[in-house]
Amino acid sequence: MADNKGILVVGEVMEGKLLPITAELLGAGKKLAGELGETLSCILISDKVGDAAKAAIVAGADKVYVTEDPQLKDYSNDTYMQVMEKAVKDLSPRIVIMGQTPVGRDLAPRLAFRLGVSATMDCLELAIDPASKLMNCTRPVYGGNARAVFTSEGIPQIATVRTKAATPNAPDPGKAGEVIPFTVAIDAGKVKAKVLQTVKEEVAGIKLEDASAVVSGGRGMGGPEPFTKELAELAKILKGAVGASRPPCDNKWVADSIQVGLTGKIIAPELYIAVGISGSSQHMSGCSGSKCIVAINKDPEANIFKEARFGVVGDWKVVLPAFTTKVKELVQ
Ligand SMILES: Cc1cc2nc3c(=O)[nH]c(=O)nc-3n(C[C@H](O)[C@H](O)[C@H](O)COP(=O)(O)OP(=O)(O)OC[C@H]3O[C@@H](n4cnc5c(N)ncnc54)[C@H](O)[C@@H]3O)c2cc1C
Repeated sequence: MADNKGILVVGEVMEGKLLPITAELLGAGKKLAGELGETLSCILISDKVGDAAKAAIVAGADKVYVTEDPQLKDYSNDTYMQVMEKAVKDLSPRIVIMGQTPVGRDLAPRLAFRLGVSATMDCLELAIDPASKLMNCTRPVYGGNARAVFTSEGIPQIATVRTKAATPNAPDPGKAGEVIPFTVAIDAGKVKAKVLQTVKEEVAGIKLEDASAVVSGGRGMGGPEPFTKELAELAKILKGAVGASRPPCDNKWVADSIQVGLTGKIIAPELYIAVGISGSSQHMSGCSGSKCIVAINKDPEANIFKEARFGVVGDWKVVLPAFTTKVKELVQ
């Protein structure tokens, strides 16, 4: 595959709209394309792509390949794999990047296996090695306690990128770009699993994985009320979202969908405020990519203080109201 060239971003579309992860991937992809002096392409797979193709150009893509088919309405690896195998064969990218989303988590390793290459999952940073022209992928290891740089020699190199780890390009409404239909005859006979029902998660405000500020509470909150009062108030002022460690979810104080960690959501906001959270490795593996971690905990020995850039030792009932008042003054 010596002639493989260019970066191919696997974009995500929902109801004709480009999901924020795609703009982030195009941000990471543009940097790689610039380092290689090659083209940045994006493939959009859905039943109806609509204006999302143009949005991908505004977000930095030079070329957008559009694959539309009613069978691609819901993600299924049986159908998406057919598209991606053909895309890699016909477009010969050097690098394929996807989001560390339910789609990318499922698709990237399957595609890598089919192609006989490897996939580096959950990356925080991607860069090109100037000598080898191979992509170096930085990702958390040991439950978020360290970072390691991985590379692979099989081409195309495949990586998934954590949400909020990459910065989108500044939108350029005047950017030139091509929208190219990419037709794939989906073989329905190869589809083994069918989506019978989709349940839409109702989210008031910003989704946890899209928020640039997350205020999370742990077992130390003592019950459900602070999640809808104190933590929600601070999150609202910061135009962010409320998260939680696992015990509040297990205790049904909050919905499982806001759990951060190994078995919850993996996020990388600009600001992560951990309140009454001890900082277990399982929790940190979901938030260690945050740009700035702030901790409020009454135990000065809590592990979270080893992970946080700023920390306050004290009872949240005393610290949080004062902190929120100050933040309110600063942002208004
Ligand atoms: C396979 C596996 C997967 C897991 N996945 C996850 C996961 O995805 N996410 C996750 O979070 N956990 C996960 N866990 C659980 C994890 O090991 C920890 O048990 C959990 O993260 C602890 O949550 P916590 O910090 O809220 O609670 P604790 O460890 O009990 O800590 C509570 C903290 O609150 C502080 N505190 C108490 N009262 C106050 C107060 N009034 N003011 C200020 N501070 C106070 C205490 O000092 C303490 O540090 C997993 C575990 C396993 C085995």
